[in-house]
Amino acid sequence: DRLRLLHFNEKLKAAGDNDLLTIEYRIRRSDGSLIWIHNRSKVFQRDAAGNVVRCLSVLQDITEAKAAERVQKALHASLEKKAQELESANEEITSFAFVASHDLKEPLRRINTFNDWLLTKESNLSEGGRQAVEKMDNSVKQLTLLIHDILTLTKVHADNEKMVPVDLNRLVEQIKGEMQEKWAHASIEADTLPSILGAENQLFYLLKNLISNGIKFQEKGHTPRIIVHANREENFLKIAVSDNGIGIAPEYHKRIFEIFRRLHGRTEYEGTGMGLAICKKIMEKHGGKITVASTEGKGSTFTCWFPALLSTS
Ligand code: ADP
Repeated sequence: DRLRLLHFNEKLKAAGDNDLLTIEYRIRRSDGSLIWIHNRSKVFQRDAAGNVVRCLSVLQDITEAKAAERVQKALHASLEKKAQELESANEEITSFAFVASHDLKEPLRRINTFNDWLLTKESNLSEGGRQAVEKMDNSVKQLTLLIHDILTLTKVHADNEKMVPVDLNRLVEQIKGEMQEKWAHASIEADTLPSILGAENQLFYLLKNLISNGIKFQEKGHTPRIIVHANREENFLKIAVSDNGIGIAPEYHKRIFEIFRRLHGRTEYEGTGMGLAICKKIMEKHGGKITVASTEGKGSTFTCWFPALLSTS
């Protein structure tokens, strides 16, 4: 610090009369302790030759502020390190889930092929054998759905899809086309919807999952009626999917968004229990949220709250 002070004095000599120079340095007090000084100086008087005769200096003890700054820097560095560790652990889990679910697809395809072969080509299969193969076939289908959903969730999590303006009317038309094949009896109506800046595949999954849940969770023999509304509220653009289905008891309104949370057996309604967890993640990725309002026996409305800033129409 002595060298820096000497340098500071040199700078002061060369400074103009109105220049205010500052420096921070440590000095040792008579009791041996070190303190930090903040020094603001300017030239006060020069002799005829221009040499500095007197300086005006304001000295401030900033030892405590310096100690606090050091603690803050250490905290910041340790937080940054933790954040980096978390990020790389996160990346590792994501790529593990991605590779594992991707690699599981191939053996499943092969089991599927053998099942088909047994059911179609092995005519002397006993009734018990046929039933066992059919059960295996159902399990394979369930596992395939599950792997598909795990892959979707990891892809949403990895978040490398480009944000582009997406016309939601086009997505709903596409979904309607797909639903017609499976659920021709359902009616799907939609307001004129806006275009929003988003990840197209994710938005497609979101709407498709909400619409197909609305059709799926119905009493037997009931005609599903789905309505997709859009409206603005303060800083949000709300897209709501309503159905006239079985509804959800209030105690489950939060829990249905948890992964693998299902309120019914698979024999009643098919599914993996991952759809709404993926929808929740998709809404978080778009800076929004998803909520539900529902009455048992009457129907449910799932509302997707997008930040109004994402609206492009
Ligand atoms: P999945 O549809 O694969 O079972 P989801 O995560 O999409 O999984 O939904 C979780 C659970 O929430 C469902 O199993 C069902 O019990 C309930 N649920 C979701 N959507 C509806 C709906 N529209 N009406 C009634 N119940 C619903």
